[in-house]
Amino acid sequence: MERCFVCGKEDNLTEGRCKECYLKESFKFEIPARIKVPYCKSCNSYYTNRWKPLLEKVSFINEILENNISSNRDLDFVSEFSKKNKKVQVKVDFAEEGNISKIKLFIRPFQDDTSFDMEASTEILLSGEQCQRCSRFYGGYYEAILQVRNDEKKIETERANNIMEIIDELSDRYISKDRMAFIARVEELKEGIDIYMGSLSAARKMANELVKRFSGSLGESHKLMGLDRDSGKKIYRTTVTVRLKNMEQRYAYYRNHLYLIDIAGDNFKLTSVEDGSILSIKSKEFEKELKKESIRIIDKDLLEIIDLSVTEVTPERYQIMRLSGDYETFYIPKNEIRSKREFKIGDSIKGVIIDNRIIIIEQKSII
Ligand SMILES: [Zn+2]
Ligand SMILES: [Zn+2]
Repeated sequence: MERCFVCGKEDNLTEGRCKECYLKESFKFEIPARIKVPYCKSCNSYYTNRWKPLLEKVSFINEILENNISSNRDLDFVSEFSKKNKKVQVKVDFAEEGNISKIKLFIRPFQDDTSFDMEASTEILLSGEQCQRCSRFYGGYYEAILQVRNDEKKIETERANNIMEIIDELSDRYISKDRMAFIARVEELKEGIDIYMGSLSAARKMANELVKRFSGSLGESHKLMGLDRDSGKKIYRTTVTVRLKNMEQRYAYYRNHLYLIDIAGDNFKLTSVEDGSILSIKSKEFEKELKKESIRIIDKDLLEIIDLSVTEVTPERYQIMRLSGDYETFYIPKNEIRSKREFKIGDSIKGVIIDNRIIIIEQKSII
């Protein structure tokens, strides 16, 4: 055993000092007796560097303690002390008294020697305030109006409901990152839907999302609302407009087959024009296929429906003649035709030509 050069005690020395002297010189630990944390009752959020929802008390307390303790050593908040942990271990006990959490801290500077354990205490006070978001929300604030309009006519009720479902879902998703992404008000008008949004960037994201799903175009206009009383900056209110394309009357050419497009919730519903069978594709998948160009969207105006006649039938294929132009004939293998019926010689049928392929259309409602 050597002697501590500070107090002369015999001990296992660290840097020439006994544990007590070493600790006194090397370990600094301070915590305020009371910590005030701004807290919004309306949305159960607290403020540190930004407003966050208070989801779970233990991690909230640990975060507040970590922000408020000043120490020159790395602290490890633990639920149980461990002999293997070389850091300074801190165990936290707390009791709730109204909006105050009374905190007791048990500190173990040396994992293998409990005689140096220390205690400290503090209290965390949730101080009632209204966060900026809530004060704006309850004050009817909005930063942008998202206008949803249809290409030509009024938005049908079913589609309007569909759009609102999507908007609500997006708002829920965005709000976890952008607290202003709330919907302040919705107005369903004759000409479309107006959604008053707390955040312009959320309104823009929603607009983009709607265009992706329903296809259409985007526009933006700004209106000067006045000057900010404090900063003197100009305040603008932005209107983001989505003009939805009429997807009805549009077709998708996908894996050599032709479908009528419809939208049902989060899915694209593709109805085969050949046999009426229905294919449902998640909108994300649909977008991916569009990007890869494995789905092509074709406007009804661009589909030329032609009259055809069956001129020959073999077990494997049909010979089909076009009843206009130069009356050319085509061969189509039977396994490429989706129609539910067998054709006979002399049958007159209708079809369209896409990429030099004939697609037989059997759905009367589409022709
Ligand atoms: Zn000493
Ligand atoms: Zn709030």
